[in-house]
Amino acid sequence: MKITSVTTFAVPPRWLFVRIETDTGVVGWGEATLEGRAATVAALVEELSDYLVGRDPRRIEEHWTVLYRSGFYRGGGLHMSALAGIDQALWDITGKALGAPVHELLGGRVRDRIKVYSWIGGDRPAETAAQARAAVDRGFSAVKMNGPEELQYLDTRAKVETVVANVSAVREAVGPDVSIGVDFHGRVHRPMARVLLEALAPFHLMFVEEPVLSEHVDGIADVLRGSATPIALGERLFSRWDFKDVITSGVVDVVQPDLSHAGGITEVRKIAAMAEAYDIAVAPHCPLGPIALAACLQLDAVAYNAVIQEQSLGIHYNTSNDLLDYLVDPSVFDYVDGSVAIPRGPGLGIEVDEEYVRERAAEGHRWRNPVWRHADGSFAEW
Ligand SMILES: [Mg+2]
Repeated sequence: MKITSVTTFAVPPRWLFVRIETDTGVVGWGEATLEGRAATVAALVEELSDYLVGRDPRRIEEHWTVLYRSGFYRGGGLHMSALAGIDQALWDITGKALGAPVHELLGGRVRDRIKVYSWIGGDRPAETAAQARAAVDRGFSAVKMNGPEELQYLDTRAKVETVVANVSAVREAVGPDVSIGVDFHGRVHRPMARVLLEALAPFHLMFVEEPVLSEHVDGIADVLRGSATPIALGERLFSRWDFKDVITSGVVDVVQPDLSHAGGITEVRKIAAMAEAYDIAVAPHCPLGPIALAACLQLDAVAYNAVIQEQSLGIHYNTSNDLLDYLVDPSVFDYVDGSVAIPRGPGLGIEVDEEYVRERAAEGHRWRNPVWRHADGSFAEW
């Protein structure tokens, strides 16, 4: 079995799919979406494909190692997202060739389903209580919202009270049985992170996410270790080497590697195993497309410490297209009682609607991250 071609498709709303074809007719799909950098990652996939074409797609570990190490320069979001999309497609091919889901190749599933959560509130958390109630009415038992909007290094008590009021309204709307995650989105700097964490402690959150940017966690390690609320982070870490410090330093309770940003299934399985050794949970980051979600679910199937799965159905980014649009059979992602079944079909367990992918790729996208400003005109973290 040999790889004959590697192709990328940038499709709305902001995704990048990778299609790898073989001489046996088996085709594998991966998702290399790095939000806002689709064209750059596509170029990187194309460069990496020079090595892959003509080789046996089933030697995934070998290809991963060569594509990671052989460039001399390694790591970071661009490289690891390109590698992730390729890795997922290679697992998809191998599973399809054997007629088995990826999780069977990884030792078989330890769970049949996993809890999912729904985003509420968008980037600017208003009317979150009504959206939380609506999510619960649709069957979700966990929701996630953004915490603050723009926040300066030192900001006002009013901003803190707005966050508290939003979270309080959500808690009141859904009651104690629904889990609430609050994402600080790396918008908060060290001085206000302490203040906000303390202010939110009474709401017994599922977790606070990215309380500060991951590169700054060492600066408030004592606060994070002592936090009454579990701390989650990791969507902007890209390899086991990026994760090792946060895992070993005791600042994190839930790691959130992204299957499309952190080297794919091969690498995230290792990150999950490292986390398990420290009794840390895994909740894969995935505000992305259907192939990324399928890869996450294959990982969730085999990682004992996987606790909950992010997914993007109806998320505020999905305007022109949504999670289920590119699937032949969208029922594979049916959410029942706030959870989704691990897909049992061969490979990643989904069937990509290739005709529709090609149709939408003709339009493509130029999705970019918003640029926010503080009142003084300076850049604000989004
Ligand atoms: Mg986040």
